[in-house]
Amino acid sequence: MVKTSCLLLAALWLGALSLRAQTPALAPAPVKVLVYPGTELLQVIHLLSDTAQVATSTYNAEVLRYFGAYRRHPAVRRARQLRRISCDMPVRLSWAFYNFPDLKVATMQARYLDGYETEFDLRQMQIYFQECARFYYDTRFWTFFQAHAPLYAGWVAGFERGLYQDGQLATVEQFYRLPRERPVVITLGPLNCGSYAMSDLRGLNPNLPNQRTIMVAYGQVAGGGALPGAAPTFYAPARTSQIVFHELGHAYLGPLFGRYRAQVQRLAPLFMRQDSALSRAARQRGGWSSYLEENVTQAVTNLLRARAGYLSRAEARQPDEFYRLAAELRLLIEQGYDGSPRYADFGRFFPVLLARLEQRHARRTTPVSRGSGRRR
Ligand SMILES: [Zn+2]
Repeated sequence: MVKTSCLLLAALWLGALSLRAQTPALAPAPVKVLVYPGTELLQVIHLLSDTAQVATSTYNAEVLRYFGAYRRHPAVRRARQLRRISCDMPVRLSWAFYNFPDLKVATMQARYLDGYETEFDLRQMQIYFQECARFYYDTRFWTFFQAHAPLYAGWVAGFERGLYQDGQLATVEQFYRLPRERPVVITLGPLNCGSYAMSDLRGLNPNLPNQRTIMVAYGQVAGGGALPGAAPTFYAPARTSQIVFHELGHAYLGPLFGRYRAQVQRLAPLFMRQDSALSRAARQRGGWSSYLEENVTQAVTNLLRARAGYLSRAEARQPDEFYRLAAELRLLIEQGYDGSPRYADFGRFFPVLLARLEQRHARRTTPVSRGSGRRR
């Protein structure tokens, strides 16, 4: 199975190289799938602390069997005192652990933390992570991790089946037709209950090459099926397609939102003043621009999942409490871009999409024509 992944990776690299030779704009950075020991280390400690939400499974029971005697370890006690411990905090910082098996802890920096640096005390977190490193050595964590390598390889193979054989990666690449600016590392979290993404690694660990990290949480893959007696699996294409399409969408959309920042910001008053539920959702997501990006990637996700048969058309059109603009955006994308030869890639269509959104909502909020203020 490992050999298959290597061959696939090699094929992807070769594919990337040949594409680069023909069209430099289309060279996609590689995608890698793995179980990350730093994430597992934190999750094991959180499981022992009884304070964080974790996914239940046979693996969970195995962790308790191996590490149960360390419930009073200083790292576990410190975990119980963390101000915020949840499905994704501080797990999303776990790439600060590196250099396995001779574990080191990177000095984290507030920059490039996607805004999450406001949610915790960096210095306290650094002290906690040092304690976790001690847990790693005291408990011989690496022995546990290595003993479970065949299990992890099986999960990776299952997830990759959805990604490559079922065509999820190709679907999303063919839709956006844009380069990914840095490698994507998809981490599978057997103890995790919420999926997430970190767009940058520089704030967490300046010692490693930069990457976009995506967490695929078993709790989410299994949905209601995360039961104590069930063995984890990461082959569940209908559910993983949501994570793959949505999170990879950010990899393409992030740079576009940067490039068209002014145009995106110009839309803010049209939406934020009109709809209080939407304003609340946007504030929750860190502001208008991030919120609109969430809606665009989810609109595309709904479109692609419906087309692949993972979602019925009716389901995909259901109003969403959080992604309040996704249905409208999906319609605009379907009509203007999807299947149309007019735009070579999503980047060329993106300013058109923003303009259409502005036209529709400016019309709704100001009945009087704004004349020359409009473009194209
Ligand atoms: Zn998102």
